[in-house]
Amino acid sequence: MSRLRKDPRAERATKTVAEAGRRPRLDLGRREASPASGRPRRDPWREWAASLAGETVTGPERKRYDRSQRQMNRADAARFAKERQSLDATDISPGQPALRVVEAPAFAVFAVVEAAGGRLSRFDRQVLGAARLLADAGDGGGAVVAIVPESVEALGEAGADRVLALPGAATPAIRASMLRSAVEEHGPRHVILAEEGDSADIARRLAACLGEPLFADVEHLTARQAVRAIRGGRAEIGLAPPRLMTIGEDRAKPHEAVPCEARPLEDAAAARLDDPAILSVEIIPGDPAKLALSETDFVVSAGNGVNDFAAFRDLAAVMKATPGASRVVCDAGLMPRQAQVGASGTVLAADCYLALGISGAPQHLQGIAGCEHVIAVNTDLHAAMIERAGLAIVQDAQLVMPALLKLLQERGA
Ligand SMILES: Cc1cc2nc3c(=O)[nH]c(=O)nc-3n(C[C@H](O)[C@H](O)[C@H](O)COP(=O)(O)OP(=O)(O)OC[C@H]3O[C@@H](n4cnc5c(N)ncnc54)[C@H](O)[C@@H]3O)c2cc1C
Repeated sequence: MSRLRKDPRAERATKTVAEAGRRPRLDLGRREASPASGRPRRDPWREWAASLAGETVTGPERKRYDRSQRQMNRADAARFAKERQSLDATDISPGQPALRVVEAPAFAVFAVVEAAGGRLSRFDRQVLGAARLLADAGDGGGAVVAIVPESVEALGEAGADRVLALPGAATPAIRASMLRSAVEEHGPRHVILAEEGDSADIARRLAACLGEPLFADVEHLTARQAVRAIRGGRAEIGLAPPRLMTIGEDRAKPHEAVPCEARPLEDAAAARLDDPAILSVEIIPGDPAKLALSETDFVVSAGNGVNDFAAFRDLAAVMKATPGASRVVCDAGLMPRQAQVGASGTVLAADCYLALGISGAPQHLQGIAGCEHVIAVNTDLHAAMIERAGLAIVQDAQLVMPALLKLLQERGA
């Protein structure tokens, strides 16, 4: 690559200001365009002074690392661009968000998701992503039908064309019989569930009810093949994707392209079902303060930048979050060792992580690699945790904690 040679004399001449009756002087504040890129050069000192004076600093957006591990690879990015192009060319009016509509699907692929609390977990998104893969692979184009226990947010973004709610399904036994009637009514080409918790149980019950084989714990899924380990992991078996299957965690990619329609689907048969053996059902939420860090959805953590631990504990309690800490805080005996988040503590599976006064050392970041939403409170704008966070508050944690508490109390939390 050939680069333009610098000409210091010409650069100096452009900055020289000649005024009548005075000696020529250099205007060092002048920012001429970079000869290589043509973009104006940034002046960090001037931006800093402007931000201190409360002025808005404009200019090209700064690049930042995305450490959420959700980047698209090249193939996905190309597919995404292609889909968006074709949608732009058809039914999308300017200002409207792009939406993928499958009007008359050739077949259906059921994706059974847990969606605890009405929100999709990472694993739920992967199950929907696997279903999307199978639906897009079929001839004529299929539709992904998300089977949900209640009303769930953002199903379209996760790749669902249709949504079938099976409410009141308290136990795996009832959910399996509801699912069976839905399968008999809609005749999906594939039914895919997570190889975890209730979903794994439902999958086995459904297979027994339908009298069909279950291909459990798929480790690798493509449009043509589903592969799983056999003989204790010493060998593997691959088949054309079968009708009933469960998939392991982190074995499929979530859908990241254009959002789908998520149109509600009516199902009359499901509402009739009940289990006479169950007299009453009450879901009792666990106490977040006593839950294991690896099992909780929302963690609030204190680092070396926190010294008001009474406010920290109050905040965690009001937010119904599980308290965590960095190693420095646990080493100092300010929090118990089991609260330590990180490579040598607990690796979280939480959806949301609020880090108060934590620098974001690599060992700590390893513990939150799977967290979808990270919020950082730190006085140092350049802390690695701020770079990792989706939302950052550059402020003293001792001021932020009571302010948040006050806000939550005003809102009656
Ligand atoms: C083998 C090994 C394993 C390790 N495993 C882990 C692990 O599992 N988990 C872990 O956490 N660490 C682990 N560590 C330690 C890790 O390297 C860091 O030392 C540690 O995470 C730092 O904790 P910290 O961010 O709380 O403290 P510091 O590094 O001291 O950072 C404090 C942060 O708080 C900010 N701050 C200061 N005052 C305020 C204020 N008033 N308001 C807001 N912010 C403020 C500062 O800007 C700074 O960013 C490990 C280290 C080793 C060598």
